Amino acid sequence: MRKYSVFAVAREALRGHKGWEKQWTSPEPRAEYDVVIIGGGGHGLGAAYYLAKEHGITNVAVIEKGWLGGGNTGRNTTIIRSNYLYEESMHIYEHSMKLWEGLSQELNYNVMYSPRGVMMLSHNIHDQQSFKRHIHANRLYGIDNEWLTPEQAKAYCPPLDISASARYPINGAALQRRGGTARHDAVAWGYARAASDRGVHIIQNCEVTGIRRGPDGRVTGVETSRGFIGARKVGVSAAGHTTTVMQMAGVRVPLQSSPLQALVSEPLKPIFPCVVMSNTVHAYISQSDKGELVIGAGTDQYNSYSQTGGLQIITHTLDAICELFPMFRRVKMMRQWGGIVDNTPDRSAIQSKTPVPGLYVNCGWGTGGFKATPGSANLFAHLIARDEPHKFNAGLTLERFRSGRLIDEAAAAAVAH
Ligand SMILES: Cc1cc2nc3c(=O)[nH]c(=O)nc-3n(C[C@H](O)[C@H](O)[C@H](O)COP(=O)(O)OP(=O)(O)OC[C@H]3O[C@@H](n4cnc5c(N)ncnc54)[C@H](O)[C@@H]3O)c2cc1C
Repeated sequence: MRKYSVFAVAREALRGHKGWEKQWTSPEPRAEYDVVIIGGGGHGLGAAYYLAKEHGITNVAVIEKGWLGGGNTGRNTTIIRSNYLYEESMHIYEHSMKLWEGLSQELNYNVMYSPRGVMMLSHNIHDQQSFKRHIHANRLYGIDNEWLTPEQAKAYCPPLDISASARYPINGAALQRRGGTARHDAVAWGYARAASDRGVHIIQNCEVTGIRRGPDGRVTGVETSRGFIGARKVGVSAAGHTTTVMQMAGVRVPLQSSPLQALVSEPLKPIFPCVVMSNTVHAYISQSDKGELVIGAGTDQYNSYSQTGGLQIITHTLDAICELFPMFRRVKMMRQWGGIVDNTPDRSAIQSKTPVPGLYVNCGWGTGGFKATPGSANLFAHLIARDEPHKFNAGLTLERFRSGRLIDEAAAAAVAH
């Protein structure tokens, strides 16, 4: 595939942009693959890319029922950070953060990674204690995270209202300066292009409807809306639909699927320099490169597969945003949408072998898996290729829900993304 570069852009500008190739090919499915990945989001596409690049397994197909990135990958608010509490999480999110830093170069695709800083507001003594605990834990692992006074927080983010009379007074903030945002669908497209270039088959508009097993119980392939496709190994990376897909193989996973909503405003001049989130008031905000304010809410309080969500949740979120940033009161909202997030009881992901030989699952990233995309994909590929976890994902087993060895990230991940 032709490399994207300033010279390619200049050459195509002179030729009327007639020479660009399709970003990835859309081949007919083969009868059998070494690995089939179910789910063409960032995690599934990334896993296929790393299988080809790092493990030399190129006879791979990614099967997507809709379009690439049409799931949560293209619906999220793109916040990236690694300031989680437990060792298992810090390892994987920091692994991801390091991959983000070089991802555009690695994929030869501009994913617009922007380390503009992620600030988490503290409104009371409980927030303060919890954030300081996270800061100390992160620093022990060499991960940047620092405590700011309200005045320092306002200096970093001038639109913030830190007056004592505010409805949600701010008594400080935790700041991860390396945190930030990236362009979500570029991540899916970049991985798809790079994987396709290495021989991976990307098959869109093809729904997996069954998982077939042989007499010994081992996976033999998947039934799809385009017929049976054989596979020696199957990796499930289907986010909010994981429970339904895993049921096809008779495996229960401890997940609850519910809508999570976001919305964007009309475009404004650059005014908001970082990402700000408030767990206490269930709201967070950043500004996209197009100028839109990108605003996210907490999850809806019921299980559903609807990609919309309840109006009362986003009106509550907008109330909170207007209290924190009174200057945005008259800004108009343009679009709202939802995605189906897959939450585990301990709010940590599952990346694991399953009781079915040859079947692997990557799920439970819930409200916060965009930031994990490169790291998760990289480690899921390792698990599938070697049939054993990497030391960074070794704790994310299904087994922990049986043994009780949970990784409780509720304070880091329940509302914050
Ligand atoms: C509103 C919102 C805001 C968010 N904000 C953030 C944030 O700021 N930061 C952050 O880190 N995370 C955030 N997240 C979470 C993040 O988006 C997800 O954790 C992450 O994108 C999951 O990626 P994925 O590739 O696993 O899943 P997806 O992108 O959902 O991909 C799964 C794919 O599987 C496909 N699929 C399902 N069933 C089948 C089937 N039977 N056959 C074939 N294909 C199938 C789906 O169509 C889908 O495309 C947010 C999520 C939402 C909804």
